[in-house]
Order: sequence, then structure tokens, then C-alpha cells
Amino acid sequence: MAPVGSSETLPGGPLVADVLLLLPLAQTYTYAIPPSLAGRVRRGAQVDCPVRNRPVSGLVIAVRPPRDDDPPRLSPLTEVVANRAAWPSDLMDLVDWAARYYVAPSGVVARTAMPSLFARRAPKSEATVRFVQHPDVPPRSPRDKTILAALEAAGEMDMAAVRALVPDGITSIRRLLAKGCLRMDTRAPDVADAPLRPTHVERPVPTADQADALLKILAAVRADKYAGYLLHGVTGSGKTEVYLCAIEAALERGKGAIVLVPEIALTIDLRRRFEKRFGGIAAVLHSAMPETRRAKAWDDVLSGRIRVVVGPRSAVWAPMPNLGLIVVDEEHETSYKQQEGLRYNARDLALVRGTLAKCPVILGSATPSLETFQNAHDRKLTYLSLPSRVLDRTMPPVTLVDLRYQPVIGGERLFSQPLRDALATTLERGESAILFLNRRGFGRFILCRTCGTAVRCPNCSITMTHHARPERLCCHYCDHATPVPGTCPTCNSTDVEVLGFGTERVEDEVARLVPNARVGRLDSDTSPGGGLDRILGDFRTGKLNVLVGTQIVAKGHDFPRVTLVGVLLAEQSLAFPDFRAPERTFQLLTQVAGRAGRGDTPGVVIVQTYDPTQYALQYASTHDYLGFAVAENRMRRERGYPPHSHLAAIEISSPDAREATKVADDVREAVSQFLMALGPAGRKVIVLGPSAAAIERLRGRTRQQMLLKGNSRATLNDVLWRVQRMFGNGHGDTRIVLDVDPVSLL
Ligand code: ADP
Ligand code: ZN
Ligand code: ZN
Repeated sequence: MAPVGSSETLPGGPLVADVLLLLPLAQTYTYAIPPSLAGRVRRGAQVDCPVRNRPVSGLVIAVRPPRDDDPPRLSPLTEVVANRAAWPSDLMDLVDWAARYYVAPSGVVARTAMPSLFARRAPKSEATVRFVQHPDVPPRSPRDKTILAALEAAGEMDMAAVRALVPDGITSIRRLLAKGCLRMDTRAPDVADAPLRPTHVERPVPTADQADALLKILAAVRADKYAGYLLHGVTGSGKTEVYLCAIEAALERGKGAIVLVPEIALTIDLRRRFEKRFGGIAAVLHSAMPETRRAKAWDDVLSGRIRVVVGPRSAVWAPMPNLGLIVVDEEHETSYKQQEGLRYNARDLALVRGTLAKCPVILGSATPSLETFQNAHDRKLTYLSLPSRVLDRTMPPVTLVDLRYQPVIGGERLFSQPLRDALATTLERGESAILFLNRRGFGRFILCRTCGTAVRCPNCSITMTHHARPERLCCHYCDHATPVPGTCPTCNSTDVEVLGFGTERVEDEVARLVPNARVGRLDSDTSPGGGLDRILGDFRTGKLNVLVGTQIVAKGHDFPRVTLVGVLLAEQSLAFPDFRAPERTFQLLTQVAGRAGRGDTPGVVIVQTYDPTQYALQYASTHDYLGFAVAENRMRRERGYPPHSHLAAIEISSPDAREATKVADDVREAVSQFLMALGPAGRKVIVLGPSAAAIERLRGRTRQQMLLKGNSRATLNDVLWRVQRMFGNGHGDTRIVLDVDPVSLL
């Protein structure tokens, strides 16, 4: 994690610049720096480059002395774009670091970092209007009056804002300007002009544990140096409050903060708390917002107008100048890992960026990943603990219900008696319940009883899921949908049966079983387009009293009314063929259980399972993180998995199964030779595969997978770079994807 050499200016000789053109290309091009621009062309600056005699904007990735392999005659850069600040140097360092670590060209990384509309045009300076004085005679026009009053109150407003306030007000503005009552100004976009005016909010008095954690964190914030923290606190222990205080301390020093959250859905709750505390200088930045707004927000960060960024993994690239703090909330979440394109892990990059920007990084979680816990154990991170909930609220008791001994109702064991009883009494008392199931849709699949096959997606080796509204079969991987077949597609038998269940089915059953249930459902089918806000809002106000959902309901939300959490089938996350499955199960159960009893009434949790002896369930039911971590850590050590080794995956895929196997064998052969050439270091790397990936066919491609295990990141990195140089990203229809520190081995 050593910072990259960040030489902004190099001594002697004319320099050249490697530039990423802001076109849909990841390749960089080298330009000469003409004497007129010497000293102004910096890494991260935006420049105009001549491309076929027309100026095209580009981002300077590197400034360096010429090399022998540069093209013989380099065109000179045209101009440096003055009204957009250069990317902060720690961000450029991060781009370089990630490029080396994730085995990708810097251009690809920089492209991943920026919004796609970035730099279409540098931001224009904005016109503003300033209040000067009242006219001698009070104006008669109501428009004049409104404008004057608003500006007197605000002091200064953007012209656009004034015009929005008073439609057709432009004549009034002109008149007032002419009278000298107002003055026009422009605001240069690169001026950090958002003064810190923390709105007055009541802050809770920190608990002793919070105070303890803050003491250490604030010392690091004030020392302007890197320090990594693991803030391990059960749900509701006041972690967010700690983040808020630490951010305030960074803002007071004139610095900015980045807060990473695992999902966009979670930013809603958090955004409200941040806006309350920090007013207009906080912004949410994520890849799902409209590109124009994202590009604007990105510029606002770059120019210093926005000083607190809240967002999912892509926010780790926020161009925050003068970074003072990074927070990674729920650091164990796998959504921090990007699963396509550049496969970076934002949690890991946050730590790297902290070292590059010399600022503290807080990783917060109720259930830290084993990797992070090991880092705390090895003193790479300072361990801070919030062991109990604030205000002495207790952790809810968890009951494991063995489904094998429950009656079958309507063909399945959907609701055990204890869960039905608890649901009924909870709702009778006027309280609310969350029912969790890790599977959306009706979750049902179609099985042929003659030939025994389930209906599968033709593109992926995955069972199609039955959805009721509208009725169809869907593949949850590629979104392929078909009508529900009346006969088996394999053998044409009519003896086909629908099995299993999902959130949609549970929603129906609850409405049927419990008379006064007002059920809402939250999953990726219902949450888009404002659905999430609406359903969460209705649940918060009590309009809905049962919320059925997938992971979305498990995380972060603070619902004081919820006193019952039911997990319908714990197996649904244990069954994944991945060595992290027990860890996921433990985390997920702890998270869902954390939704119960957050208000003044204590809560209960009921977990239905076919195997209550499973250790992840056992430890989750007693809220025993440490017990789980020790047991799981032992298993990982025995099997040589992280945190006791490092992994890298190589995936070879092709529409043609034979081609995939052939290329995989070629790669395997090359890897063996590279390892041999590395001598003793190479012999310590274990190569598994190539073998068919767990989901062998995905989106019409057959996938072969190799897994490299080793103790040295450097050796693995070396091998991957050799593979990259030899095979690139694959040829023809074959694709080769390198995945450093993979988190999903499906
Ligand atoms: P976490 O992020 O660990 O789940 P939060 O910071 O959201 O915990 O705190 C849980 C609840 O307790 C919130 O409603 C928060 O406002 C409140 N809270 C946090 N710290 C304190 C405190 N020191 N005193 C009283 N209430 C607190
Ligand atoms: Zn059949
Ligand atoms: Zn599919």
C-alpha cells in the first residue's frame, strides 16, 4: 500500500503528457508539452488536444520525460482548460495504484472513476445577483418586491435561482440592476465558496464507548495523517453518530469527507441525517443518478462546493480536494466489490486512498469481514468497539425453529406455528414485523416429475423463477423471460409442478393467514422508480405493518415500531457454493435481527431452518460475533482461504464451450510456466482449475474458471500481469477477465 511517486514536476528537459481523451476510449495518447504550457500541464488537469486538427478534451494521466518507445513526432497540446480544477493528486495516485493492483491500464481506471459526461464541457462560470440597497422609492411591482426581499435575505443568489423564483422576472432584475439596487457578479466555478454553516441540531451526548472511539479518531483527523480504524459496533450502537462527529471535525479543519454506503437504497435514510447536520454542503453521488446531475455533482466536489459526499462504491473516486476523512459503513458488504469492468473493491481502495491523502479511514460494521477483523488483530487497523446499543436497548432474543418438525401447510413449510403466532400477536399489539427471504418473485420454479428436470434459462445454467404479477418465468441473471410452460420443455410431459417460494408468495400468504396484516413488499421488483421511498415511508408511518423483503430490508433502516423479525428460510444463503457462504449467512442474520426492537419496545427474532445445528446459525442466534469469527477463521486457515491467503481468479468465457476449454488450457499452461520461472516464490502459488464455473453458462457464454491462491500479493500480481501481456482481454469471442481478491466465486 505504499503511495505512488507523485512527482508533479520533473527536473530538466522537455516533458510529454499521457492523455486520456474524453471520448469513449480507454487508451491514452502521448502529446508534447509546448513551452507555452510548460509548468501548467499537471497530472489530473484537463487539456485540449489536437485530434485530426480539432480540439478534443482530455485528462492528463501522467507527465513524464520522453521515452524511446514514444512515437517519433508528437503533436503538442493545445491548451490547458482553466476553469476546471485538476483532479486532486491523491486521486491520481489512487488511479495509478488501482491500475497496477487490478492489472488494468490507467486509462481504464480513470474512465471507471469519472462520470461518463464528465468534461463534455468545463463548467461555465455562473451568473449571480447580489443585494446592494433598497431603492429610494419602494417598488410597486410585486415582482420587484419579491426579488428584493429574497435577495436581501440571502445576500447573493444564482441568477438561475432568482429566475426560477420569479418567472418572467428578468425585466424586474434588469430594472433593479439599473437602479443600483442589485449587482451582477460571476462566480468562478473553482472557488470553494460553500462556507461551513452547520445548522443548529441537537447532538446526543456521546456514550462512554462513543467518546472513547472519538477521542482516537479526532486525534488522527487533527493530525492530518493516515490511520485506519475498525469501528465494530452492533446495530444501533451509535456508529453513525461517531461518523457524524468525525466528519464535523474534518469540516472544521476546512477538509472534506467521503462516506461510502453499500447500497443506494441506504443513502435515503443517511442523506436525511447528513442534510440535517451539514446542510447544503453534503451531496449524494451515485451511478444511478441521471448522468447530467452526476457530472454536475462531480464538478461541485472538484470545485469544493460540496464537502461531504455520500455514495456507494463509486464514491471512493470522488474528486474531493483536501480530503480529511473516509468512512466505509458496513464494510463487510460485498457490494463494495465491482463485479464487472474494473473489478475493484471500494473498501480496500478507501484504505489506500487514506494513505495517499494522509487522512484517517473508518471501517464500520456490526459483523466485520474476516479480512478486516484479521487486519485489526494484526494491528494494521486500530480496533474500536461499541459493544452495546445506546440507551441500554437490548439485543433481541433469537429463536431457531426447526422446519422439519413443523406441519406442512398448502404443500410447504412456509410459516411455522411459532412464527404465525408471533406475527398475529405482534400485529394485535399494534406493532410491526419484517419478514425476510433471500429470494424475490414467487421464488417458485417448475419441475417436471417425469424427467426430473427444472425449467432452466437457455442462456444461463440457472433455474428460471416463477413470477406471478405478471405471470412469467424469469432468469434472475440475464433477465430472460418466457411464458409459464404447460408442459416440460425437455420431455413434453404434462406432469409439471411448481415448487419453492419467494417474497411475492410470502406477501400473498401473510395477507391470507393474518387478518389485520397490511403487507408491503420490498425487493428489486418493487423498489425502482420511487417505490422504495414510498414503501419505506408507508411502513414507517404504520400504514403498512408487515414488510416482506429481500436483503434490501435487512440493512441499515431504523424502524422503531418493528418488534418481530422473521427469517423464512435461513438456508437460502447457506446453499451458495462459495467459501464465504457461512460468513454471509452470519452477517445477513445479524443484520436482519438488528431491525428488531430499535424503539422502546424490545423485539424478538424467529429464524426458520432445516438445520438449526449449523454453526453460522448457532453463533448468529446468540449474537456471538467473536465465537463465529474464531470458528470461521480456523476453517479458513485449514483450507488456506483468505485472510490466510490471497486469491485471484481468471475467468475464460466464450459462446463456444470447446473454445472456452481450449483457451483455459492455454492460460493454465502459461501460468504454470510463469510460476516455474519465478522459482521458490512461484512454487508457493497454488493453481486450482481450470474448471467449469459454478454457474457454467451465463448470458449465453460458457465459463471456465481458474483460482490462484498464494501468500504473496506481489507474486500473484506478477503472474496476472504476465497473463495480461500474453493474452490481453482475449481474442475473437473469447473473453479473459482477471479478478483480484474475488468476493464471489459463482
Ligand atoms: P448504528 O449506526 O450503529 O446503527 P446509530 O448511530 O444510527 O447507530 O444510532 C442508533 C440510534 O441511537 C439513532 O436513532 C441515534 O440517533 C441514537 N443515538 C446515537 N448515539 C446516541 C447517544 N449517544 N445518545 C442517545 N441516542 C443516540
Ligand atoms: Zn420433463
Ligand atoms: Zn439467464
